[in-house]
Amino acid sequence: MALAAAASAREILTRLHDVMAKRLAAQSKLNAVVDIIGTALDSEVCSIYLLREGVLELFATRGLSQDAVHVTKLALGEGLVGTIAANVETLNLAEAATHPDFAYRPETGEDRFHSFAGVPIIRRERAVGVLAVQHVEPRRYADVEIEALQTVAMVLSELIANAGLIDAAGAASTRPQATGAVRTHGFKLVDGMAQGLAVFHQPRITIEHTVAEDIEAERHRVYAAFDKMREQIERMASQAEFGVGGEHDEVLQTYKMFAYDEGWSRRINEAIDSGLTAEAAIERVQQRTRQRMREIDDPLLRDRMHDLEDLSNRLLRIVSGQLGTAAQLGLRQDSILIARNLGPAELLEYDRRRLKGVILEEGSLTAHVTIVARAMGVPVLGRVRNVRQIIAEGDMLLLDVGEESLLVRPTNAMQEAFSAKLALSQKRRAAFAQLKDQPPETKDGHRLTLMVNAGLRDDVSALDLTGADGIGLFRTEFQFLVSATLPQREAQRRLYKDVLDVAGDRPVTFRTVDIGGDKALPYLNHDEEGNEENPAMGWRALRLALDRDGLMKAQARALLDAAAGRTLNIMFPMVSEPWEFEEARALFEAQRAWLGSRGRKLPTDIRYGAMLEVPALAEVLDLLLPRLDFLSIGTNDLTQFLFAADRAHPKLALRYDWLSPSILRFVKRVADQAHAAGVPVGVCGEMGGRPLEAMALIGLGIDRLSITPAAVGPVKAMIRSLDRSAIQAMMEAELAAPRLPLRETLSAWAAEHGVELA
Ligand code: PEP
Ligand code: MG
Repeated sequence: MALAAAASAREILTRLHDVMAKRLAAQSKLNAVVDIIGTALDSEVCSIYLLREGVLELFATRGLSQDAVHVTKLALGEGLVGTIAANVETLNLAEAATHPDFAYRPETGEDRFHSFAGVPIIRRERAVGVLAVQHVEPRRYADVEIEALQTVAMVLSELIANAGLIDAAGAASTRPQATGAVRTHGFKLVDGMAQGLAVFHQPRITIEHTVAEDIEAERHRVYAAFDKMREQIERMASQAEFGVGGEHDEVLQTYKMFAYDEGWSRRINEAIDSGLTAEAAIERVQQRTRQRMREIDDPLLRDRMHDLEDLSNRLLRIVSGQLGTAAQLGLRQDSILIARNLGPAELLEYDRRRLKGVILEEGSLTAHVTIVARAMGVPVLGRVRNVRQIIAEGDMLLLDVGEESLLVRPTNAMQEAFSAKLALSQKRRAAFAQLKDQPPETKDGHRLTLMVNAGLRDDVSALDLTGADGIGLFRTEFQFLVSATLPQREAQRRLYKDVLDVAGDRPVTFRTVDIGGDKALPYLNHDEEGNEENPAMGWRALRLALDRDGLMKAQARALLDAAAGRTLNIMFPMVSEPWEFEEARALFEAQRAWLGSRGRKLPTDIRYGAMLEVPALAEVLDLLLPRLDFLSIGTNDLTQFLFAADRAHPKLALRYDWLSPSILRFVKRVADQAHAAGVPVGVCGEMGGRPLEAMALIGLGIDRLSITPAAVGPVKAMIRSLDRSAIQAMMEAELAAPRLPLRETLSAWAAEHGVELA
């Protein structure tokens, strides 16, 4: 059966190939095509409908009245042909007229024909036309015939595209969900507005040639690509270079299962037998799987399908030699990047001048990719569903994260409204920029300390732009993330020195590397102790740095050298017990002594601080505080550990609120204890960068915040409109007897007291 199908499809393909190679007008080619297919399938009618200006137009037919050509037109979703295109599905009917979507068109003279089969002609996952056959005799077409039709439709899509019979705009507006402008929603990860063309992080391959010249050669190409893909997956499994968070193991297992799936490779082989090139065969099998999956309504299977899509795309990229992510190919214009999820290092590969926004199918507020994007000033909308169904590569997108909205292929009116709003928000941003020389002082005269978080060399410019008091958290691991290999000590020293030079008198707090968790480095083997089930609670940050002290020693020397003649502020991440802090400090002191003994110039002073991110540390703070020069509360990790909720888990992104009594009481207890011991305490998590949350923190007695640069303006505006003693009284009352939800209580209080919340 399969053999016969392959033989007949191959025969048709060979003839189509000849037609395509001829110097004929496009219309004559289509006329020849319907004849070839009709004859080969022994079908009385064979017609081609193509999408033009949003409607399906009969372009060529054998068997229907020639008067209907370019006259019969069907809207998407109208009649059988319109239904096929709209749903990108195949129909195979013994009695066409009994189908609920049947629409009779008298000019075609089709009333004699009973049976009907039609397949979509697909380009870039969307229907650009329909290929249909009809018979007088009422019978369903055999599976082999349908298979042959689908294969032929693939080749037709190449012919049609090459002949310029469909335009890109037509192709982009095929599915009903994707017709014209579409508005969809997501979840606010990094606020902002952006406009640009859609770019998929994993680009889809456009297949240029569908008909094979040499079947054996195509077969070999596919074999080689399979080998390479399996190799890549094995490497991913051993290197932990892949994915984000704890999900990656499961995904890898699924990848492995598909990569070694005999059925998949066999079906691709069969498609090659029918005369397709390796690329077309992979795509053909993928189309078929997509169709099957659409018929099975199982969310679990649909997730699996996503993985198979990824893998099929990977195979296509290998076979076509179009390797790499969109970052490696380079962004050519203002772009909005679309991905299922991204690692922070992957995001950093993009050209910051052209990357205007990011859309993630997953994503959460405190995942490091979000923090990196925030640092880059790139708006991010997370948890956007069905992106592949509604967005095609190159579509114009308008992203308004504040509204949690995404407009795909906007109309002119939408575009105008967006531009007007964008201009307004730029004006507001300019107004915030005006605040840069104003102190972050409350209405009742308390001067707070407002600093920025940074991690990349360019971030340091934020100091001048925002007028911040210094850098409260310099995430040194970002340099490690952007680098393909472990940064050498000298490269580290240069970065730290540059940062200190730009900062001048303003203090900079360097946090020692916080790698591991969702910041895995491909060149560092994190798997010494086997695969980590819970990387966020695993061998990361200070734990890893103390065990691999070569890494930390090199960093200590780089920092000590860079800060020669100035004050060096060092902070250790993820301190869980006081001895870890002691050991880290001792390591720095030993390096200082060593450099000193060699006559090297040293920092005038070293101040050592700890991050409070692990709740256990709060219980032994009395033991640690006397040793500390300062304490910084990392609310991102702290929240995930307090609530036992993975900070990168998309399903938990909305579940717990920073403005919950448990977090606020916890922070208050720590702040009070630190103040009593005379140790400066601040907050450096994302929480502090949100005006309402920052207001609550100030109410708890926090007077030092280190936040993302874009938040300095809005937070400063809030501070300058706030009465500190009033919010402190308010918070005291609310912590004692919270009126839930606190977010609402606090928002209402802010509105009542004229507190400016952006
Ligand atoms: C935190 O955990 O709050 C923090 C500031 O560190 P990071 O986000 O880099 O883990
Ligand atoms: Mg942290």
